[in-house]
Amino acid sequence: MAFNRSVDVVVIGGGFAGITAARDLQKSGLTTLVLEARDRLGGRTWHKEVNGFAVELGGTWIHWTQPFVWAEKERYGLEIQETPGCAAERIAIKTGDQVHDLREDQLAEFVDGFHQFFAASKAVWELPYDSRHTREAIVECDAQTVADRMNALELTPLQRTAVGGMLEILSMNQPENASYVEMMRCWSLTGWNYELFNDTAARYKFTNGTGALVSAIAEDGAFEVALNTSVSSVQHSATGVSVTTVNGEVVTAKRAVVTVPLNVLNSVSFDPPLSTVKQEASQLKHVGGGYKVFFEVEGDPGAVMTLSRSTDSPLIGSFTYKRGEQHSVLAGFSLEPGALEKPLSEWQTVLEEFMPGVRLLSTFGHDWGDDALSNGSWCTYRPGCFGRFADELPRHEGHLYFASGDTTEGWRGFIEGAISSGSKAAVAVAHSLAS
Ligand SMILES: Cc1cc2nc3c(=O)[nH]c(=O)nc-3n(C[C@H](O)[C@H](O)[C@H](O)COP(=O)(O)OP(=O)(O)OC[C@H]3O[C@@H](n4cnc5c(N)ncnc54)[C@H](O)[C@@H]3O)c2cc1C
Repeated sequence: MAFNRSVDVVVIGGGFAGITAARDLQKSGLTTLVLEARDRLGGRTWHKEVNGFAVELGGTWIHWTQPFVWAEKERYGLEIQETPGCAAERIAIKTGDQVHDLREDQLAEFVDGFHQFFAASKAVWELPYDSRHTREAIVECDAQTVADRMNALELTPLQRTAVGGMLEILSMNQPENASYVEMMRCWSLTGWNYELFNDTAARYKFTNGTGALVSAIAEDGAFEVALNTSVSSVQHSATGVSVTTVNGEVVTAKRAVVTVPLNVLNSVSFDPPLSTVKQEASQLKHVGGGYKVFFEVEGDPGAVMTLSRSTDSPLIGSFTYKRGEQHSVLAGFSLEPGALEKPLSEWQTVLEEFMPGVRLLSTFGHDWGDDALSNGSWCTYRPGCFGRFADELPRHEGHLYFASGDTTEGWRGFIEGAISSGSKAAVAVAHSLAS
């Protein structure tokens, strides 16, 4: 990669936000260079073969409630497949210290818990892609946590586990730290409907992995990429942008699109500095922590879903991910520190509670929290932050434009959000250069 060079637009970060912006910019006739610190594109999505299984170590599931990513799937003709455990034959649920199968006659009670929890969300998020439409109502609830909302309701033990467990997965944090308005946003985005909410979370994934979409965008866009290129500082002025890498190379450009994840944005130094709200948000961080843990088990456990709260089990939820006669894989979620290092024998005991007779062969995953280029999993804002962050984090500053799944309108925290923010940033940059 030749450096100390000049392009129309430099894109910092090659996750879905960055590569979507780069494709659209290059296609609009602007020379575009992506600088990516990792040795691969895709960022917090990572389709990889581990233990003989092709798995998604990061972002996985997409749905037609997510218009930008669904359009990409259609555009490139990419196949999807169902995740067996999302349309489960059996849901094993732990309430207190008891695990039992969810019975047919308990389904209405289960779903009703969500309707009670989210009763206000239609009024609060009438248009979830346009938070300004009901800004006052959103800000009014902004300080409330998921725990606050749950405590205000008289939920049954089953409903407390169903709602509590699902929202621990959705926020990747405990109810005391998770934002009520952020959870309502996702419920509104799925049409205030439990089935769509559940299916959007974990039903459809790319048959050939998220990597197939990364490759399709990169090939179609034909933009230039420099991998293993970490940006350390960015200078910007009325005349343009100058980006310096940790190795001292310099790229100058008319515009920059910054897609560095919120939790590590402060690791890049900006001159002049970013707005105080952007700096504060990066320091405060979003709440998405936890671990996605894959469980390789002997034989075929069937299409199973498990659900619990983190106070009752290290495994807050899991789904059969891939079925095989010899061995199968479940994708699970945990908030327990060190979950990826937890000994197999301990996980065996945990899993056996939900699936008697199961034989665990291995566990694996990627520690996104310990990864210096993400410092967390997926984003939901902390309680009390929405009002300050919603407009300010995606706002451009001079010739710096911002795109990220962490700061977008609509599906913030998802592949969808990354793609939508990347395409919107590309339009804004092209427009600024045309005028
Ligand atoms: C475990 C896990 C499971 C998830 N599950 C789902 C799911 O099922 N469905 C879904 O829709 N979403 C899911 N997500 C969320 C989704 O993956 C992300 O929201 C989305 O991929 C973010 O894209 P992005 O481009 O905004 O950020 P990223 O993908 O993080 O891209 C930012 C890029 O910037 C690079 N970078 C950082 N610092 C620098 C620097 N200084 N210089 C150069 N490059 C730098 C990073 O290496 C990275 O490649 C999941 C995420 C995780 C971690």
